[in-house]
Amino acid sequence: MRTLIKGGTVVTATDQYKGDVLVEDEKISTIGSTLDIAADKTIDASGKYVLPGGIDVHTHMDMPFGGSKSSDDFETGTKAAAFGGTTTIVDFAIQYRGQTLHHAMETWAKKAEGKAVCDYGFHMIITDLNDQVECEMDALVRQGITSFKLFMAYPGVFMLDDASIFKALLRTGKNGGSICMHAENGGVIDVLVQRALAEGKTAPKYHALTRPARAEAEATHRAIALAEIADVPIYIVHLSAAEALEMVTEARDRGLPANAETCPQYLFLSYDNYEEPGFGGAKYVMSPPLREKAKQDQLWRGLAFNDLQVISTDHCPFCMKEQKELGLNDFSKIPNGAPGVETRMSLVYDGGVRTGRISLNRFVELTSTSPAKIFGMFPRKGTIAPGSDADIVVFDPNRTVTLAAKTLHMNVDYNPYEGRQVTGATDIVLSRGRLVIEDGKFVGRAGAGSFIKRATRS
Ligand SMILES: [Zn+2]
Repeated sequence: MRTLIKGGTVVTATDQYKGDVLVEDEKISTIGSTLDIAADKTIDASGKYVLPGGIDVHTHMDMPFGGSKSSDDFETGTKAAAFGGTTTIVDFAIQYRGQTLHHAMETWAKKAEGKAVCDYGFHMIITDLNDQVECEMDALVRQGITSFKLFMAYPGVFMLDDASIFKALLRTGKNGGSICMHAENGGVIDVLVQRALAEGKTAPKYHALTRPARAEAEATHRAIALAEIADVPIYIVHLSAAEALEMVTEARDRGLPANAETCPQYLFLSYDNYEEPGFGGAKYVMSPPLREKAKQDQLWRGLAFNDLQVISTDHCPFCMKEQKELGLNDFSKIPNGAPGVETRMSLVYDGGVRTGRISLNRFVELTSTSPAKIFGMFPRKGTIAPGSDADIVVFDPNRTVTLAAKTLHMNVDYNPYEGRQVTGATDIVLSRGRLVIEDGKFVGRAGAGSFIKRATRS
């Protein structure tokens, strides 16, 4: 099967040029200024960008939460991802206390098998670390699950103490894996939450008011310090606070391998959203919470100057009806999370590239190349080059769309950006050479996505 993408502008993290791209079976085979080669299918990309498929290294599909679960499964979630120009996700498998990592891995593999429409990998969340689990970390790394997520928040559920965190960090120094950290001081936050509830403060906005930016900054600093002592890299997930970014910047200025991602919601939404009338603020209940609008410029500066290396989504949708509603009378019972896997590329293009905050190359780097490199998928994924997987997005930089829950494809009854107009939209998507999105329609197949074995740090 040969597909020829003709007349587009190929954009990678480093280059931008007019060129034709030939796809043979699952791979990109040839790139040239004009290719006159017979193909089974020819795609006219004139006036469009030809981008490496987006890579979202932070999603939660089909994730159990307090008797409920996130409303997208691997089929609806990866389909929505594809509509938005993302062709690879890395989702989080969860080891619950008392379970083995292998049990968690098998549970999540079953969730994805036969469902994912594009490729996926897993990070492993460790909530219970003992000698046995440390050995299992090595085995997982060999099986292509090369990153582990730890929590400094949610005491009694997910949180690990500093000694366990330190042991896990040391282990990755030996096995070539890496640690991703949810950096918020969970102990302090829990005290603030209990105090607010005792004072009758139950509205959604108190979710944000009980999770101060300094609690994120403190944990970010501590995570980096522990990694420095262990002499290993660290990756901070969903960084939201400018105060936390300062900790990352300070560490990087000292030459430490500290990396961090932020998410579109922290760039385009703010604390003000929690002030929506009634229970509307619940739409934005996520952790860390949305921060002050005035601080967003600092995150953009971090993205532009490489103190932040990745934009992921933390896609974790819960419907307002019956799910977010669980916290109608108690903000601490509102499921944490929001939809985002489908809107990332357009939002960042529109709000980042079109406004001049980041370059077109940097857009590709933040949404595809850099996550591929950090998480062991490059150069198989994350670029347009001969030999790379043909995960390709034909992106129209001039098409304007209005974001709305009704027309988006995520399985959730609201959208945090409802009514927002964005310019720059995904037209055509190939996943390993197969057409997935064409003419605004899904033309892929559930189960066509494969588990991606990721490499260790070299
Ligand atoms: Zn998350």
